Amino acid sequence: MIDFAEMLAGYRRFRETGWAQQRERWDELNEGQSPRVMVIACSDSRVDPAQIFDTSPGEIFVVRNVAALVPPFETTPGRHGVSAALEFAVQVLKVGEIVVMGHGKCGGCKAALSGDLKGAPPGEGGFIHNWIELLDDARETVLDHYGERRDREVERAMEQQGVKVSLANLRSFPCVREKEKAGELKLIGSFFAIADGQLHILDEASGAFTPAA
Ligand SMILES: [Zn+2]
Repeated sequence: MIDFAEMLAGYRRFRETGWAQQRERWDELNEGQSPRVMVIACSDSRVDPAQIFDTSPGEIFVVRNVAALVPPFETTPGRHGVSAALEFAVQVLKVGEIVVMGHGKCGGCKAALSGDLKGAPPGEGGFIHNWIELLDDARETVLDHYGERRDREVERAMEQQGVKVSLANLRSFPCVREKEKAGELKLIGSFFAIADGQLHILDEASGAFTPAA
């Protein structure tokens, strides 16, 4: 694992090669961004959307957080970071697609499933607990189906249910609902399996995730 000093070595390589080679592209990007796709992914260090989708700077507008979650539309006081990014992507950048990407071995989903953080001392604010409460309904759905069983299949069901929660919450935002209805915005659910590097796409009609070609 690397530290910041080693990251600086990486930065120097980027300056010498990546940045220099794409100088024209960076000049263009300096004028502004116009990505067509927003990606909502987990903060997990193993699942970088730019790497998984092999995209270049300027191509995807990304929000990453614990468990790739979108909160529901809420106007209660608070700093709604995900909602602000969503509003910017949809209303200002006018992206045509929003991709939610869950992933295998997601710690946030696992904690939500086990309920380990429930009732734990609030620590510095109980932020994780509060955040993954967004998965409470998903947990109920998974428990209804699998009972007390706990194995990889159940964990994966939870991870994939989390993607569905984020899609449902996206649709609680009036701007998302209206643009989707008007055919101006498409929502896509996906799941990246770390074990084999396979991306799965959600078919919302059947609720099933199938490997992307
Ligand atoms: Zn995760």
